Amino acid sequence: MTERLYYHDSFLYDFDAEVREVSESPRPAVILDRTAFYPTSGGQIFDTGWIIPASDSNQKLRVTEVADSEDGRVVHYMEAPTKGLQLGTHVRGFIDPTRRRDHMQQHSGQHVLSAAFVRLFNMSTVSFHMADDYCSIDLETPSLRGEQIEAAERLANEIILENRPVDVRYVTREDAGKLGLRKLPPADRDELRLIEVRDFDLTACGGTHVSQTGQIGCILLRKAEKARQGWRVEFVAGQRAVATASRDYSTLTATAALFSSHIYDVPQQVHKSLDEIRALRKQCEQSQEELAVAMAVSLVAETPEADGRKLVVRVFPDRDLNFIKLLAQKLTRLHSAAVALFATTAPQAALVFAQSVGGPNDMGALMKETMAKIGGRGGGSKDMAQGGAPIAEGLEGVLADAAVRLKR
Ligand SMILES: [Zn+2]
Repeated sequence: MTERLYYHDSFLYDFDAEVREVSESPRPAVILDRTAFYPTSGGQIFDTGWIIPASDSNQKLRVTEVADSEDGRVVHYMEAPTKGLQLGTHVRGFIDPTRRRDHMQQHSGQHVLSAAFVRLFNMSTVSFHMADDYCSIDLETPSLRGEQIEAAERLANEIILENRPVDVRYVTREDAGKLGLRKLPPADRDELRLIEVRDFDLTACGGTHVSQTGQIGCILLRKAEKARQGWRVEFVAGQRAVATASRDYSTLTATAALFSSHIYDVPQQVHKSLDEIRALRKQCEQSQEELAVAMAVSLVAETPEADGRKLVVRVFPDRDLNFIKLLAQKLTRLHSAAVALFATTAPQAALVFAQSVGGPNDMGALMKETMAKIGGRGGGSKDMAQGGAPIAEGLEGVLADAAVRLKR
């Protein structure tokens, strides 16, 4: 078993140790007799840092991940093969203090927040998750209201402001049962490590914690959403809360600048813009409709009748698929024996074939044949069909070829 120095001092950032085991596959890994590196467990993520041989301080070996092995040893996964380390090598370990402090703030913050939800609303925390940029707890409750979230955040921050001592103590499992712990771990060990926030929270935990609640800094609740077992509440504590608030502010400032408005007016501005977009879209649809009718009228007028029908074959380079479909529809309704073979090249090359209702052709079949020739995909009904062309060049020829195959 590795001696875990972090159990006794969360602020121990460097330590001496001796190498117990080195392996290179599947990943370079080192096991020491004692360590201050925290392995991922209980919701808290691992420390990173360096292991340096006592005899060669130039050889800084990067520790990229730390995990518990099944037999109670702490495994330090290394960035690169561990040249120079072997059984018995004396080393010095350095953990990344910024990362450790961040984890202490998040984890102690979680204890205070979870206790606040219990105190105020009797909602217990069923799980804790710490990611690189946010944390979350899952609360066992069928519902969670906005004012409850605010009240828990307020109480948690009051406990932080009061700078209460956070103590570590060890008790037997039997004694722990009488103490009224917020959370008891699975029954696999006789001695329990308890974390106590003076007169506020007592829980069993193996994590690294601050020594006074003031070191948590602050707690900022972010998002609450329904989860499998109840409600998930996202939060950030300490420097993370400051960094998150600062990122939120930059995002909001950039958005406000787009509207030349104050940041707090952004929702109102977005609302106004969405209303405008909706109104413009409606106007635009109406104009397209009117334009399609006008163009259909003029196409019918300028196209001479031949073989008992009006055949209009045309490529529209500046109209999209929706518009040429609309135009084909108007045209074939305006005249009782019209056929439209249309193409567009913008933004994507597409074809539309249409005939007046009851016409002699099968436009869906004609489209399929045409697409098979040019390597596109398409189809439709007897009177109206559309397809996407793989290239925009030569569509005049494609339409002319389809026109030849129309029934007379
Ligand atoms: Zn904990």
